[in-house]
Amino acid sequence: MTAPRVPVELREFPEPDLPSGGALLRTAMSEVCGTDVHLWHGRLSGVPYPIIPGHVTTGTLDKARGELKDVEGRPLKEGDRLAFFDVHRTCGKCLACTAHRTPTRCPSRRVYGITDSATEGLYGGWAQKVYLEPGVIIAKLPDAVTFADYIGGGCGLLTSVHIIERAKITLGDTVVVQGAGAVGMSAAALAKKAGAGLVVLIGGPASRLDLAHRMGADVVIDLDSTTPAARLAQVMDLTNNIGADIVIEAAGSPRAFEEGLGFARNGGAYVIAGHYTNTGDSTINAHEHINRKHLDIRGCWGSEVGHFLRALRVLDEYRESVPWHEIGAKTYGLTQINDALAMAESMVIPKALIDPSA
Ligand SMILES: [Zn+2]
Ligand SMILES: [Zn+2]
Repeated sequence: MTAPRVPVELREFPEPDLPSGGALLRTAMSEVCGTDVHLWHGRLSGVPYPIIPGHVTTGTLDKARGELKDVEGRPLKEGDRLAFFDVHRTCGKCLACTAHRTPTRCPSRRVYGITDSATEGLYGGWAQKVYLEPGVIIAKLPDAVTFADYIGGGCGLLTSVHIIERAKITLGDTVVVQGAGAVGMSAAALAKKAGAGLVVLIGGPASRLDLAHRMGADVVIDLDSTTPAARLAQVMDLTNNIGADIVIEAAGSPRAFEEGLGFARNGGAYVIAGHYTNTGDSTINAHEHINRKHLDIRGCWGSEVGHFLRALRVLDEYRESVPWHEIGAKTYGLTQINDALAMAESMVIPKALIDPSA
């Protein structure tokens, strides 16, 4: 991706000379997520174009220089099925990493496929091989977890593990999820697994809502065929006019934020995860929506190693009851990348996958 708003180009790169502790991953699958569409629209600041997109990626170990180990210290060998944590170079020393305990806000942090430039090498999954620099966190895929399971969950699953941590769901809670993208669907699935009694998902397009239901949402509400007033009435009806214990925003719209405040009960919590880009201001009434309501609003930015590892365990445990593999609806080869981007932009399918060898 050489710049925003122009077609993605195919380029050949030399195979890198690996430093000690470095490795090459042979890509099996990567994804086109909402972030990639934002990158293509030029909506993220400080992106060092040209980039090789594809921040969450899986494949097999092609080669390594020296003994390569996974994050649990187990030696890895060629052909092992791997996933790696796309966030790297988090410093562990700065204020964010230490005193504030918010490593996702570390200024040194870099992310494959987003903040790593193609001028530096193969730092993205829309490539046949990905360079795993020394220090990148690597994990083996559990034996039962397929590439399609992992990439179907993708970054939306990692984000949702973090969301659920922030949401602090208590057994029996009523949870409203705003958004039927990969994040919203995974958040609904994990909310249910975390013990929510009732999970309501609001989103669109309508073609996704059946999958959202099968992912774990007890009730799905079609955003496109309802009014805000009707949605609020439905949530209130479902909660005996109390409102939801937890509301999760995975929609990325200022209007969704305004609306979500109304769904939460007095003393409830609202987790904001969908505003990865700046989509403009929301208009709220601090008295009515926050102060009087005694509402707890929590941001949720990026993910940490623990969320990545937990996502793998979640897939291992729940892949049979939650159809993550169905989120990755269609797979595209490298020559079809621009079609895949257009498909992701149009939101016709839940997620387009990239198989660079196809
Ligand atoms: Zn740091
Ligand atoms: Zn992503």
